[in-house]
Amino acid sequence: MNTVMKSFKDTLLNAKNILILTGSGISAESGVPTFRGAGGFWRSYQVTYLATPRAFRDNPSLVWEFYEYRRALATKVQPNKAHDTIANFEKKLTSQGKHVTVVTQNVDGLHQRAGTKNIVELHGSLFKTQCTECGNVEVNNTVPICPALARASLPEPDDMASDIPVEDLPHCQKNDCRGLLRPFIVWFGENLDEDLLNKTEAAVESCDVCLIIGTSSLIYPAAMFAPRVAERGITVAEFNLEETAATKSFQYHFQGPCTVTVTEALDI
Ligand SMILES: [Zn+2]
Repeated sequence: MNTVMKSFKDTLLNAKNILILTGSGISAESGVPTFRGAGGFWRSYQVTYLATPRAFRDNPSLVWEFYEYRRALATKVQPNKAHDTIANFEKKLTSQGKHVTVVTQNVDGLHQRAGTKNIVELHGSLFKTQCTECGNVEVNNTVPICPALARASLPEPDDMASDIPVEDLPHCQKNDCRGLLRPFIVWFGENLDEDLLNKTEAAVESCDVCLIIGTSSLIYPAAMFAPRVAERGITVAEFNLEETAATKSFQYHFQGPCTVTVTEALDI
């Protein structure tokens, strides 16, 4: 083990409140396509259009097909060694009376499937729905989520028009509400959920070590939190495939696949 890694592990051994921020890089190593960022397409649609409240208003069937496709993909992949290591790390430290908070921008549920308990899904989840009428949020792991969306995971021509009647899309079962459900995902132009943001803020304020895994500390949402942690003089360690302009402001940078670097760093 190199001396930098040893030094970080010593810091980690003394920490009591650990904040772990994770991003698309950790999911990418499980084979999950992220569909975020400029240039992302599904069929012939720009993802920056599909992931908007406007697209859902204009064509809820199309947006549901896109999310059902992603739900089907996410259930076919497995949590990787980095997900497993984080879950084991949390379990071990919790048993020692320490506190680990995982804040992820990923919506694929892989941290939970690996066994992580104290998790904030800042961008929502592919496996949660929200009622557009009563606001009720529910976990839903059934794929397909309804019979009409069963074909959404199949390859289709780019010009395939979405023709599922709205009444065949998922609807709210709570108290005969029957409101149309939407994916519980933070779309472009929407605010983060206040409760989730508060929980994250609390972890940002109380942590004594912060790990940024599989995302750049320059990119939102890590960019929102990591510099504030660093300003408090708290140790920040980046685990990333590449260096960024922000790397130098943090104490540690471990370059390489998360499945390698995180597995080594959290094995304490
Ligand atoms: Zn409802």
